[in-house]
Amino acid sequence: MGGGLAGMTAAIHLAAAGLRVLCVEPDSLNRDPVGESLDWSDPDLLKTLGLQIDYLIEQGIATFKRHAVLKLRDGSERHYIPREWLGKPPYNVDLRTLHVDRGELNQALRQIFHSKGIRLANDRVVHVETAGRMVKAVVTGEGERIASRWFIDASGSGSTLLPRIFELPVYEYGPHKVAIWDYFTVPESIEGTTLHADGAGPLYMEWVWQIPIHPNTISVGYVAPGDAIKEKRQQELSVQQIFEAKLKHLPALHGLLYGPLKEPPRTTSFRCRAFAKTAGPNWLVAGEAAAMVDPMTSNGVTAALRHAAEASRLIIRYKDRKAIPRPMAAMYSQRIVSLAKFFNSSIENILYDAPVRNRIGPFNAGDLYTIPAWSINVVYSRLRPQGFIKTSLFCLLLATLRFSLGAFHWLCSRLQPSLPTRATA
Ligand SMILES: Cc1cc2nc3c(=O)[nH]c(=O)nc-3n(C[C@H](O)[C@H](O)[C@H](O)COP(=O)(O)OP(=O)(O)OC[C@H]3O[C@@H](n4cnc5c(N)ncnc54)[C@H](O)[C@@H]3O)c2cc1C
Repeated sequence: MGGGLAGMTAAIHLAAAGLRVLCVEPDSLNRDPVGESLDWSDPDLLKTLGLQIDYLIEQGIATFKRHAVLKLRDGSERHYIPREWLGKPPYNVDLRTLHVDRGELNQALRQIFHSKGIRLANDRVVHVETAGRMVKAVVTGEGERIASRWFIDASGSGSTLLPRIFELPVYEYGPHKVAIWDYFTVPESIEGTTLHADGAGPLYMEWVWQIPIHPNTISVGYVAPGDAIKEKRQQELSVQQIFEAKLKHLPALHGLLYGPLKEPPRTTSFRCRAFAKTAGPNWLVAGEAAAMVDPMTSNGVTAALRHAAEASRLIIRYKDRKAIPRPMAAMYSQRIVSLAKFFNSSIENILYDAPVRNRIGPFNAGDLYTIPAWSINVVYSRLRPQGFIKTSLFCLLLATLRFSLGAFHWLCSRLQPSLPTRATA
């Protein structure tokens, strides 16, 4: 269910293992996909689908991302660059990752998808037939009933089909947010993903991304709490005016605004969250349908690719049985929920919310977030936790880091009691 990044990836893995796959996707054109700045784990995950880093660069689908930059309004900046030792044994991490044109990446995936003989039903799942915890069949908007032994829900954060049907427990982080973004042609672009933010003061942080998806094209997006955007809309400002007003204040970007934008910028709204128990006897939830991680973490694409690979691995391994063994299903959901909780709570506590940022400064807060976040992804890629012991150890590490950062946030809030804390509970 769903033929976005997670759905196509799962379908490709399953078909490569010889299973017959039908993918139900209503938007065959995949309009306005987001997720352009990739984490360092992604090149390896894309390679398993047949998309090598060099091929993506040669085809103009991607540009190199060697670092991330945090730029403040006063012009100061810090570059977060993976240390060289990470590239040496025993870590052997490729220190290069990518920015991608998501439309073109989806297109490349769609070609692989079709080359594997996967069927695509251009339709939407509107009903799920269950028997206890089993999924029996799904019914589409066109009235087709599709029965199968196995189901993967990759319907994205807007639908979350199976979490809603099975009323799965959910953890939510931060306020509802809105992203407004557009693409601009520039004479020359920079090499890293740049995050522009105010960084100081008591307010919940708003930020603007600048991602070079082609040598002469940048994606620029503004992320703010939904309430802040609603307030501006109530002042009769259009989305375009809100976007332009934000960029005008950023020295590196205000030059983009000469001349009116041709079309209104794209928008989406989202709430960061993670569902628990995202695997049942014959179904698994993958990608944003299982967990929505904040875009600032650059971990949504990694999550979608990883969930899809792990969900399909479980189906392939247990395809001759009636059900996925309960402990394996539990380990799958534990990894998903623990990772999403870690990324979401850390980014909220350390960067979005004010107390830590104000106490140690935005650049140090950036270090405090990126060092554990990058390390966690390196550990995950090397450890490949699947069974009980590795998954438990990994989740314990995540919980320890999460609680430590949470405790630091609490301490900083106590030391600055006059500051307002979160925008919402
Ligand atoms: C503003 C923003 C910026 C982001 N930036 C980054 C970034 O820089 N780096 C990063 O790593 N991640 C980023 N992400 C996250 C990343 O884009 C996503 O995590 C990833 O694309 C999710 O893929 P998915 O396949 O799970 O979901 P989607 O791509 O949303 O795919 C879900 C698919 O399911 C289909 N569908 C929906 N309902 C049904 C139904 N009822 N039946 C059948 N099909 C259905 C939809 O049409 C869609 O094609 C960003 C997210 C946002 C919101």
